[in-house]
Amino acid sequence: MNWTKFEKELEKAIFSGKHITFLVGAGLSVESRIPTFRGKEGFWKIGSKNYKGPEIGTFRMFNLNAIEVWKWFLFRKTICRKAEPNRGHFILKEIEDLLGDQFALVSQNVDSLHKKAGNSAERTYLVHGDLDYARCGNECSDTLYPFPELEDKTRESDISLEEEKLLMCPKCGEYLRPHVLWFDETYNEEYYKIYTVTEIADNSSMLFIIGTSGSTFIPGHLIDRVSHFNQPILDINIADSEYSYFIKDYSEGYEARETSTEALEKVLAIIKKIKHENGKILRTTK
Ligand SMILES: [Zn+2]
Repeated sequence: MNWTKFEKELEKAIFSGKHITFLVGAGLSVESRIPTFRGKEGFWKIGSKNYKGPEIGTFRMFNLNAIEVWKWFLFRKTICRKAEPNRGHFILKEIEDLLGDQFALVSQNVDSLHKKAGNSAERTYLVHGDLDYARCGNECSDTLYPFPELEDKTRESDISLEEEKLLMCPKCGEYLRPHVLWFDETYNEEYYKIYTVTEIADNSSMLFIIGTSGSTFIPGHLIDRVSHFNQPILDINIADSEYSYFIKDYSEGYEARETSTEALEKVLAIIKKIKHENGKILRTTK
């Protein structure tokens, strides 16, 4: 990774006045002890059968057994509620303060940690939803309700009949569902801002990819849009991912094979330096 060359690119990107977009995946929240869907905490038992996160987190499973899906999400919510943002989250908040309206955060994480770190709702796009909310599983309206307030759950906890009432839609009486994109569903603008995010990518002078393995749609999609306009892309990941072959070949591609926090510290230092040296020219929009 040639940080000196990258610094010049980043300076150019900041001077362009266009968006500088940060795409975030589960890797950023690992240091906050949020388990990934695919890791060992992603296993779930129903009766004598074992399921993996990508099987439980589906509309199909919700239709078959809403209460089991809720048990799993209530367990995940308990973990998220207790989790604290790590240094990587706080660096993204500092970068937002420095870049102002140029900053765009596209996150695949539903764990509320960007909010806890202080990133603004206006510049954060939660493309996989937000575990702070629930909505009607029967789609009787598009209202977002606060996530049901149940007591903390472990993997083994049951849901009492009293608690079950809190999982019902106040309008139609059917089950609510967590406000997240499930594995058998598609992105849309209404809940996940997919068109807005695409437009931001098309107007970005640089894309950062942080801690995502590339097994979902979004990384490939944003790489596609940003590279179409020949803008630089920096992939921050401890290991190669499904799109590494592309980044390696791409003339404007950069790879930092280190943890999110290590690389983001360097990015933050560069942005501070650029802002400091050009303070009078670059005025941040807050
Ligand atoms: Zn309803």
